[in-house]
Amino acid sequence: MHKKGILYVVSAPSGSGKSTLCAMIREKYPNIEYSISYTTRSPRGDEVNGREYFFVTRDIFEQMISNNEFLEWAEVHGNYYGTSKKAIENALNNNIDIFLDIDPQGAMQLKEKAQSAVFIFITAPSLKELETRLKNRATDTDKVIDLRLNNARKELDYYNKYDYIVINNDKNTAFKQLEAIYIAEKLRTSHFKKIEDFIKL
Ligand code: 5GP
Repeated sequence: MHKKGILYVVSAPSGSGKSTLCAMIREKYPNIEYSISYTTRSPRGDEVNGREYFFVTRDIFEQMISNNEFLEWAEVHGNYYGTSKKAIENALNNNIDIFLDIDPQGAMQLKEKAQSAVFIFITAPSLKELETRLKNRATDTDKVIDLRLNNARKELDYYNKYDYIVINNDKNTAFKQLEAIYIAEKLRTSHFKKIEDFIKL
């Protein structure tokens, strides 16, 4: 049996700066894979199908639910979002680490199904700051921003189900913290199944 990749589950209320932090990790650690979720929401700004998300209709999404194609899925801010089971299994079986950016409802489904996953919660330092960041993004309507802020309050309640919390006050500090978590988790003895996994005998 060979070594398996590590699954990092990252959740954050909208406007926490999660995408920026993940992009920074991605740049420094190009071997990490990022799961591309399926969603029924419409593309925002310059998002491209197959890059940020696979944008699909509700019919197709529901078909995929019945075909059992999702590792987890949830309805978030009025749209469906889901993680492809096959993509995750392939990465992990090939010893590739993978980051999942999913909401707490999806993360809680994985607490049961993927017990060795690492759960990380990222947030901005205040609700006011979340609101400012959402407004500055200027890609959402006021109605969508209100919905996302309301949901942010609810999502915060899940924080203690996660292994780590990163407060994104300053992006360079938050990046270092996220990087520290990534590295420390890779050094866990439980990821080395036999002595030959870490030393030549
Ligand atoms: P956004 O529309 O801003 O890209 O994402 C909205 C929310 O959906 C975020 O909290 C994001 O983490 C979550 N999300 C994205 N992909 C998935 C997924 O595959 N499953 C679940 N459960 N949530 C997701």
